[in-house]
Amino acid sequence: MRRIPSDQWPLIAAVLVLLVSGGALVFYILFQKPPPGGAGVPSPGRPAAPAPVRSLSSLAPEPRWESLDRFADTQTTSDFRQAMDRVYGDGTPAWQSLLTLVEGTGGPPRVDITRWSADAAAPRQPLSLRGTRPPPRYWREASELPPSPDPVARPLDGVKVAIDPGHIGGAWARMEQRWYQSPGSTTAVMEGEMTLMTARLLQPALEALGATVFLVRDGAEPVTATRPDDYAALATTPQQAELFFYRKAEIRARADRVNRQIRPDLLVCLHFNAEPWGEPDTVTFTEINHLHLIVNGHYDATELALDDVRHEMLERVFQRSEREELRLADAVSRSLAAATGLPPYDYGAGHMAGNAHRPLPENPYVWARNLMANRLYQCPVVFTEPYVMNNREVHDRVVAGDYEGERLVAGKRRPSLYREYADAVAAGLKAHFLAHRPSGK
Ligand SMILES: [Zn+2]
Repeated sequence: MRRIPSDQWPLIAAVLVLLVSGGALVFYILFQKPPPGGAGVPSPGRPAAPAPVRSLSSLAPEPRWESLDRFADTQTTSDFRQAMDRVYGDGTPAWQSLLTLVEGTGGPPRVDITRWSADAAAPRQPLSLRGTRPPPRYWREASELPPSPDPVARPLDGVKVAIDPGHIGGAWARMEQRWYQSPGSTTAVMEGEMTLMTARLLQPALEALGATVFLVRDGAEPVTATRPDDYAALATTPQQAELFFYRKAEIRARADRVNRQIRPDLLVCLHFNAEPWGEPDTVTFTEINHLHLIVNGHYDATELALDDVRHEMLERVFQRSEREELRLADAVSRSLAAATGLPPYDYGAGHMAGNAHRPLPENPYVWARNLMANRLYQCPVVFTEPYVMNNREVHDRVVAGDYEGERLVAGKRRPSLYREYADAVAAGLKAHFLAHRPSGK
């Protein structure tokens, strides 16, 4: 057998790394998550040593690890551990192998952050955790605001709110798989249109409470300048190029607009939910209807193993977004539950089991889940998922459209679906700021 000359080892190693990371990327693209048991994924209870593998989500840019340096000493190790255990982790110690807390060594307490995509000579970035100063961030918690000059009528005075109407709608709704039309009906149900209608009602409702409101999109057109064709070379199928466009690039473009231009105190991400509906032209209706709110969290080992995801999560952990996000979700879930009468959705029962956990044990409507559309925004996100679109009653309310006052729809006098939704979100935000903003007295 011929020996391989030693000067070829670097080349062979590089090819191997390329093969491994290329394979992982293809797998991730196909299944949205890398394979369980991949590099650096620890077995429960026994953190494994991180492997030197570069690992990024599809279309994700290289993380700028040095951006985390600005958070030095903004929290303590117990703050960090609590946030990971309560919200960001998945209930296992998986995170500890990638984010190692170091205490009692004589030096300042710190977290060692694994960064596979950085300099191979320094795969760990230490960050001091002495908890001596507040985190730098562009948004303010309600408790950090000055008192409102008119606290009862305008509790949101001076608050900057961004509204993200989920999805795109219009000509893109079929591609997004957020479109169906009941046989015999002339009205198509399109989530992107419905979220925009709700957003346009929510905007004046929040402005009346004193807020300055920005819509992240105000039309049935994408925010990203790219189109599916731009991803043809990267994708293996036309459907995958479409996914890259509407699920990846579009959300990144919205996050850029929010984080760089709008920089709000909070963002409301409006969605409608659905149960599996089969083919969009012969939709399967359901009796099921429910409500839930999503806070960013529940990162499992395979998600944490991706450098970009881990970095984006750490921006949120160090900004302590979860504290305000949980309070907001609690308030808005209560107002939405009261207005809609909907029962809580249960991730433990359906096909989504294991994707989320409840960070507020006393509130069954609030779930922690890691989505691109709540991870990339660097401010607290109120992510709402009321109404099942292929529930028959919801369908009839969509067909009835928006109207003032009450009308007889699906056998009951009621407000329009959109006003009920928008008014309830506004009521929840009002309750939050009334409860947490300083009164000045
Ligand atoms: Zn949605």
